Amino acid sequence: MKHFFYKLLFILMISCLPFFFFKLSAQEPEKIGERGYYLPTRIVVEFSGEKVVAEKGIPEWASAAVNLINELYPKYDKLLETEGHIPSGTITLRFEDSETIGWNSNTTIGISIRWIKPGERGEKDFGMVAHELVHFVQNYQGGDGTGIPGWATEGIGDYVRHVFYEPEKEMRPVNPDRESYTNGYQISGAFFMWIEDTYDRNFVKKLNLCARKRTYSDNLFVESTGKNLSDLWAEYVEKIIKPLRQENKRIVPATMFPNLMKYKKEFEEHFATLKQEMRPQQQGDEQGRRQGRGQRQQEN
Ligand SMILES: [Zn+2]
Repeated sequence: MKHFFYKLLFILMISCLPFFFFKLSAQEPEKIGERGYYLPTRIVVEFSGEKVVAEKGIPEWASAAVNLINELYPKYDKLLETEGHIPSGTITLRFEDSETIGWNSNTTIGISIRWIKPGERGEKDFGMVAHELVHFVQNYQGGDGTGIPGWATEGIGDYVRHVFYEPEKEMRPVNPDRESYTNGYQISGAFFMWIEDTYDRNFVKKLNLCARKRTYSDNLFVESTGKNLSDLWAEYVEKIIKPLRQENKRIVPATMFPNLMKYKKEFEEHFATLKQEMRPQQQGDEQGRRQGRGQRQQEN
């Protein structure tokens, strides 16, 4: 069993090579180029015990999640970029055998293997990682009541997940008699999509900026749309939620919000060009870090 564990650890380290081998001592992520983006400082994969490591399919799941983080993190950073902001760079993915499907702290994304095991409902639920990762990039400093409300933070998380990671996926239905934008997550996420599609393509960027500058008020909705938050929600319920409920349909961002998809495409093209431009610099940076580590090893 021990031998298997080390083999597995090696596989995982290889799968996220740059981030295990470089910048092990750095606390903050490093920006690639002036116009570029941040990369994660370090991705750590943790298993809560031998039973978890030995579980079929879990090491492969972990490896795929690490690849996904490496792919999405710089894109999210560019999308939510604000001057002087540094995202949270060290990400621990912790796999446990627990009843809670997933959880998140400042440093860790916790995932229960009971949810993601082969044959279970969450077997392909990488969207969970795509959502939690947004919080590392948001890196909002809160706690004294001057930040944006929790429902908006979670709404941005699911907005980013469902626009940039899985726009073809059906979103959860809303019951307007019992639920509203304050439920957060997919409900506020889809509400933000509609606002961008209908009124202001930069709404989430503005909301994100308010969160980071700690200047949020509900008035932001008036500035972007000319309507206050409760009127706006009422309009959204009439135009989107009620017709969908009547037809027993769900929101699929890719088909529901064509303007938003156009903005998304523009961003993806811009990001792809940027990534191409940054490639030599990124490789050089990684090589530099590798050499740096080699030197440190010799000194020890
Ligand atoms: Zn969240």
